Amino acid sequence: MGLLIVSLVACAVDEDGPAAPGLGGEDCVARTPAAGVYAGPLYDTHAHADLSSAPAALDCLADRHNLRTLVLFAGQTGGDNAGNRVHNWMSPYAPRFLPFVHLDPKSVSDVSVTELDRALARTPQIRGVGELALYRPPWQANHLSDPPWASLFQWAAQKNMWLMIHPRSDQIDELETILAAYPNTKVLVHTAWNASDMPRLLQTYANIYFTIDAATLISVEQPSGSVDVLMSPVTGGKDEFIQRYDVERDAILLDSYQRWSPTMLAAPDRVMWGTDTFAAWHYDPAVYDRIMDFARRWTAMLPAELREAYAYRNAERLLGSGPQF
Ligand SMILES: [Zn+2]
Repeated sequence: MGLLIVSLVACAVDEDGPAAPGLGGEDCVARTPAAGVYAGPLYDTHAHADLSSAPAALDCLADRHNLRTLVLFAGQTGGDNAGNRVHNWMSPYAPRFLPFVHLDPKSVSDVSVTELDRALARTPQIRGVGELALYRPPWQANHLSDPPWASLFQWAAQKNMWLMIHPRSDQIDELETILAAYPNTKVLVHTAWNASDMPRLLQTYANIYFTIDAATLISVEQPSGSVDVLMSPVTGGKDEFIQRYDVERDAILLDSYQRWSPTMLAAPDRVMWGTDTFAAWHYDPAVYDRIMDFARRWTAMLPAELREAYAYRNAERLLGSGPQF
């Protein structure tokens, strides 16, 4: 598969996050979804937080789109100060935001049980670790059979923490091995690749969970096998996203439904919706509105009895509502 092309997508720019200043008032009033689409609540299980941006803007967008809860991968570099930043950012809006620890490691040894224990002591509201993007530095030459994975899987099971992993496309065998070795560890996976592997994995291992995110769905698979992700910055940002989305939406809906609905149907109680918003322009209302519109259209294509499960019910049951601080 076109690993080179797609390795730049999804969550490549963690530093860049919510930045839609000046949103307020009317902007935050709940919009009426288009006719015929899924119109119920949403729960975003995959969003990247920039704690230097204004949480009010994201809270406003959530109100605008009936988004009850967002799992945020929140940076934890900076010691005790990081815990204060998470607390100050999320607490005024509780229970809207649910934090996962994002360590942003420079080397593999930066991710350790010791570091995770520290983060948990600073921010007891943390429910998981992620995103662990194994196609990015420093992980590219690391395998799930190498350190630190055994210790992380043990730790996560002991502490009842989720591990959110984005495996490389060539790591499916390793993933199966470690899922089998640690059946009590809850592993939350997403990827824009390996769509054809996921139904089998979900049916074989009860401890794998999956998020089918907007960035995964709003994409075009090229004849070469590479995946062209419209939310990726390599495609030219906001203007190109809007231009392509408005022309290609219906074709993308059909194509991504064919590719990804078997994953939902394989384990309808363990697959959830998310966005994978990570760049500042994703939070521009013109873009965010389209991401939400797409989510509602895609969800409406699912069998009626699975729509709410995918949109928010599985997430509420499995991850819980956002915490109080
Ligand atoms: Zn990812």
